[in-house]
This record gives sequence, structure tokens and C-alpha cells, in this order.
Amino acid sequence: MSAAIRSDGQYALELHGVHLRFGANTVLKGLNLKVSPGEVACIIGPSGSGKSTLLRCVAMLEEGFEGEIRIFGESTNHLGRRPWIRPNPATGGAVVGMVFQSFNLWPHMTAARNITAPLELVKGLSKDDALSLAADMLAKVGLKDKADAYPDQLSGGQKQRVAIARALAMKPRIMLFDEATSALDPELVGEVLAVMRNLAEEGMTMLVVTHEMSFAQRVADRVIFMDDGQVVEDGSPDMVLRNPREARTQAFLSAIS
Ligand code: ADP
Ligand code: MG
Repeated sequence: MSAAIRSDGQYALELHGVHLRFGANTVLKGLNLKVSPGEVACIIGPSGSGKSTLLRCVAMLEEGFEGEIRIFGESTNHLGRRPWIRPNPATGGAVVGMVFQSFNLWPHMTAARNITAPLELVKGLSKDDALSLAADMLAKVGLKDKADAYPDQLSGGQKQRVAIARALAMKPRIMLFDEATSALDPELVGEVLAVMRNLAEEGMTMLVVTHEMSFAQRVADRVIFMDDGQVVEDGSPDMVLRNPREARTQAFLSAIS
């Protein structure tokens, strides 16, 4: 299958006919998607439409899908699970980084240690190199002075920024965000979106599942509306959010506004 699909590597991410079943339940029903380097694509859609599953397939947390996923031209089908630990030859980093709604920080480790542990264990960096990279990444997310804080001493917004710093320290080529601000108190959402926006402006390729329509409108190059395991609409924020063509998109947008 993979040999039949040719790519010149111009896309950061390609999905070709991706299907995924959980038992009798078909969750992804033939997804086709292309994302260019530096592009920010926001994915919106109802609960259960397959948004998280799509990101998990790209992050290689799901096995057994049909079709093909390519990252910078390279098929991921044969890489097995958890390949963000697989060094990326171009940067010496990970292929994709993922940020989850629930932060997933280790509670018994400081912010700095949350970042240095995977750098040492997975990438084999020395303690000193890992610490210096962690300091850079914490500064990048505005948390220079929180290196020694434990997660329970941080606000939700600060925890999520540590999680972003941890993902970035692996030097991913694509960043995936799965409802990164959905667990936050409303007053803490902005600081996380600001970090994401900076990252977008720096040219990071990003796939962002979000309910923050104003972020999608302002930051996304593209908005993708998913429903029932399919891409229903895919276009500019103005097209999809302001002038949706499909009835399902219109219904979703009027339900949330
Ligand atoms: P969304 O993120 O858009 O809310 P999900 O990708 O989480 O949707 O889920 C899509 C569908 O897949 C849902 O019906 C969900 O119940 C199902 N699903 C997700 N993960 C699993 C799993 N590990 N096993 C079985 N069903 C799953
Ligand atoms: Mg989800």
C-alpha cells in the first residue's frame, strides 16, 4: 500500500484514506488531509467525532489503522508505537510532540525535572545539557522562575505551559494540541493560547483541536470541521467559521455560539 503513494516530501503531514475501527465501531472513516510546513490547522467538531483519535494516530499512539500517514514524506505505518521517542534525523529531535488536556506532568518531579527526565532517558542528553535546554524552554513559555516548582505549586495554566515546554524540548517537527485549554479556569486560558500563538508565529507546524473559536479565527491558517469520523469541511477560518457550506458545520457552529 505505502509504495503506491508517492510523496515529494513537500507536506509536513499527509493522511491518505485513514480508517480506524474499535471493534464494531468505525471511528475514523477515510480521512484525507494535507498540512504544509508552518501551517496551523485547527480541528473543530462535536464530541465523539474522532478528533482525539485523529491526533493519536498522527502521534502513533494508535495502531491498526488502515490507509497511510506520512510525516515530512515519511510513512509512519511501520514505525510502531510511540515514535516521538524516535530521533528525527533532520533535527535530532522527535517527530511529533503532543499536549493533552490533562497536562500529564509527573507530580513528584519539579517543572525542570519533568522536562529533563525524558531528555536524559529518551534522548540520552547529559544532565547539564538537559538542564540548560529545560531552562531555555521554560523561558520560552514565560516560566523561567518556576524551574524548581512542583506541579501542585503551579496553576493550571502554568502546568500546561510546562507540558508545552516539555514537548518542545524534544524538538518536534509537528506539534499536536488536544483541547489544551479545556481543563483550565477561564482566566488561565489566555496565557496558554498566547504561548501557542507565539509558536505558530515562529513557524511551527501545528494541529490544534480546540473549542476556542476566536483562536481558530485569528491564528489558524485552516479550520477543519470533523463529524462522525470524517472531514466535513476544510478551508480558511473565514470560509469554515463564517460561511460554512455544509449543514452539519452550520448546525455545530450555531450550537456552540
Ligand atoms: P473526540 O475527540 O472528537 O471527542 P474521540 O476521538 O475521543 O472523539 O472518539 C471518537 C469515538 O471513538 C468515540 O465514539 C469514542 O467513544 C471512540 N473511542 C475512542 N477511543 C476508543 C478506544 N480506545 N476504544 C474504543 N472506542 C474508542
Ligand atoms: Mg477529544
